[in-house]
Amino acid sequence: MEIAFGPVPSRRLGHSLGINNIPPKHCSYSCIYCQVGPTPAQEITPRVFYPPQEIRRQVEAHLHAVRARGEAVDYLTFVPDGEPTLDSQLGEAIDSLSDLGLPIAVISNATLIGREDVRAVLNRADWVSLKVDSVDAGIWQQINRPHPDLRLADILGGIRTFARTYTGKLVSETMLLAGLNDSEKAIQSLGHFLSEAGIHLAYLAIPHRPPAVSGVHGPNEHGVTRAYQILAAQGVEVELLTGYEGEDFASSGDFQRDILAITAVHPLRESAVRTLAEKAGSDMGIVANLVQSGELRRVEHAGELFLIRTFGRLTNP
Ligand code: SF4
Repeated sequence: MEIAFGPVPSRRLGHSLGINNIPPKHCSYSCIYCQVGPTPAQEITPRVFYPPQEIRRQVEAHLHAVRARGEAVDYLTFVPDGEPTLDSQLGEAIDSLSDLGLPIAVISNATLIGREDVRAVLNRADWVSLKVDSVDAGIWQQINRPHPDLRLADILGGIRTFARTYTGKLVSETMLLAGLNDSEKAIQSLGHFLSEAGIHLAYLAIPHRPPAVSGVHGPNEHGVTRAYQILAAQGVEVELLTGYEGEDFASSGDFQRDILAITAVHPLRESAVRTLAEKAGSDMGIVANLVQSGELRRVEHAGELFLIRTFGRLTNP
């Protein structure tokens, strides 16, 4: 079994060397958008999968191999084809990697975070992402199709408790699905929970790979812009993970390149784009061309015009 893979480019984590510490597909959810397909038998009790020494051996060997090819690695990331905290030895695995000199990330669906032992394990990681697709129990059931013994209130309570004491970087990730969790009311409730829990960076994603249930898809640019603005108005820092990994956002002096990179992450008011154009000694003709070619889209929200990077053809049927 190949446990280590990548590194894959990630806007959140740079060059992220992935660690698949769970065989496919052991999960507590069976999300309708899951790219690994439906979960055959959901489980919620952590148990032994691969020995931590084997995880360490494979990660170290893979790290040496990719570095020998001159590739950079910025993070070691537990991102399996299932839920990483179902591994009862995840804490030992994290500890076994600590002397490799790289920060460690865990991307979790948060279902077991109501457990004190799971919070203690996640505490050992430098960066943790927790899935929060909805704080409405009915929508949560529809989207995540949880194990019958899971309770949304326990998960949300566990996230609040974890956020109070965790000293690493904590972020949330929400998969936006058209007609399910993208209404104004659903996003307001989500934003209220995130800001009250103290999660200050929320990532919004849309499905980009074939989902477990056909027909499931993300909202269009208008829906994503609306969700972004609602969360931002509640004091939550938001970034979009809508498929384009972009380049970094340092100004390159190339207005077109910068505007495409920024609008992939943050929808920008047209007035702000105009100001940027002036600063760069450029003009809005470039923006008009990008809109015409379909790379940018103009979206109206609350009486204001925004520009957002077009997601690409997999977003909507
Ligand atoms: S939590 Fe992740 S692995 Fe589990 S069903 Fe949902 S998307 Fe798939």
